[in-house]
Amino acid sequence: MSDTKSGFLRETAQLAGAVYRAMRVTFVNLMRKPVTVHYPDKPRVYPDRYRGLLALTYHPDTGEENCIGCRLCEFVCPPQVIQVEMLKAEGRNYAKAFTLELYACEFCELCVQVCPTDAIIMMKSFDMATADRRELLLDKDRLHQIGEQFEASWATGNRLRDMQAPPKKPVAEKAASPAADAGGEA
Ligand code: SF4
Ligand code: SF4
Repeated sequence: MSDTKSGFLRETAQLAGAVYRAMRVTFVNLMRKPVTVHYPDKPRVYPDRYRGLLALTYHPDTGEENCIGCRLCEFVCPPQVIQVEMLKAEGRNYAKAFTLELYACEFCELCVQVCPTDAIIMMKSFDMATADRRELLLDKDRLHQIGEQFEASWATGNRLRDMQAPPKKPVAEKAASPAADAGGEA
């Protein structure tokens, strides 16, 4: 058999193999149930730790803004998209101005982790598609509005810090061995 003829047969066999593999995948998937979600008519269920839109919160009992304008979130934010201006007041401080450039946010959750008052949180939603970047520059009012509009994710600063703390000794175990504790520390 000439080289030209054997090359042609090899290529034809390779092509037939590729078509067979592709069609096999097609036929297998033809039998599957569709996975398409008819969003937004049917909203998706997101996991509890979903990191979506950022929002500011009010205290559930007093209705006061939780943000004390401490600027920790501003300092920790890697792309520096948060800007806070503190307003000093009697008893507690507030955020006089709070802006967040959502279009440059990395959704890293660091701002949530450091917030001492659980004032900044993430929501289980990303429903903010827009062709205008200016709509993604969020001011304090808009951030509070997002907090009221969507379902909050599980994480708050206090919960995240509790999770990272070393495990506490069970009370019964501590009471049973005070001497051992003292000996161990000596
Ligand atoms: S999630 Fe990360 S990037 Fe976005 S505002 Fe918070 S700290 Fe900054
Ligand atoms: S959101 Fe939290 S960390 Fe940021 S300024 Fe307000 S209180 Fe401080």
